[in-house]
Amino acid sequence: MTGNLHPDRPEGAADPSPTLPPLREVIARHGLNASKALGQNFLLDEQLLDRIARIPGSLEAERAYEVGPGPGGLTRALLRAGATVVAVERDRRCLPALAELQEAFGGRLTIIEADALEVDEPSTAGTGAHVVANLPYNVGTALFVRWLGGECWPPWWASLTLMFQKEVAERIVARPDTPAYGRLAILAQWRSEARLAMKVHRSAFVPPPKVMSAVVHILPKAAPDAVSAATLEKLTAAAFGQRRKMLRRSVQAVAGALDALEMLGIDPERRAETLTVNEFVAIARAIGARTKA
Ligand code: SAM
Repeated sequence: MTGNLHPDRPEGAADPSPTLPPLREVIARHGLNASKALGQNFLLDEQLLDRIARIPGSLEAERAYEVGPGPGGLTRALLRAGATVVAVERDRRCLPALAELQEAFGGRLTIIEADALEVDEPSTAGTGAHVVANLPYNVGTALFVRWLGGECWPPWWASLTLMFQKEVAERIVARPDTPAYGRLAILAQWRSEARLAMKVHRSAFVPPPKVMSAVVHILPKAAPDAVSAATLEKLTAAAFGQRRKMLRRSVQAVAGALDALEMLGIDPERRAETLTVNEFVAIARAIGARTKA
């Protein structure tokens, strides 16, 4: 299974791209019938998987963290790209297939059987890892909120390359004055650059989901000074919780928000979806300054 395609490589050195059996065969041999409860929609097209693995840039000698490797299609692509991979999988049926990959790639793959929501990523993946995952739909948004939220910044990850339902991906990269613009966009964009890197047709998955998918790529940037993530989150929850209402109504329950609007000269008759990310950040900063005073 692991024939050496690189005769010039020193004896015993790991082969970066060993010959592997087709993913369909791996799935059949290990009886990996897709489980809906675990959000299992597998990608089998190796060229597509290689394209996804290239989105973060060169992974040669980099660390990658994958959630939900399943039968290992994306894992193979990350390993072929030269990464050292830590992958967290909840479905123990996948472990024997992943053990074969471990063997083929000379120990560059670490598999952890766990619920990704319970993993302590900085100690598991290490700081500076590139997160690359075809996320299970049931936990995708929860992981995203966890990776982008909180007061601790810069984050433990160097980049996020994540497959979502297309509608969720569009909410992450949305601009003001569009229906998709809301809490996810602010969370993704106030201290990161988020872009839609690739659309993926539903027919690329086995079994095909009902909806289209898309990959977003996110790079952290410096956090704006003196802004609390918790305050910004409280503000956007209120503002978009009643997105059809004017700000003077929607954010009135957030202490200091109306004063902040006045101080910044932001018209309280505007609605949440018209505010830029920077305006939300400025309001959160002004609320924080007022609370401290
Ligand atoms: N990476 C594979 C691919 O691209 O073909 C499989 C992706 S599939 C959409 C999602 C994977 O996440 C499945 O293998 C599923 O078992 C796994 N999974 C689901 N919930 C999980 C959780 N809470 N923690 C870790 N893995 C989970």
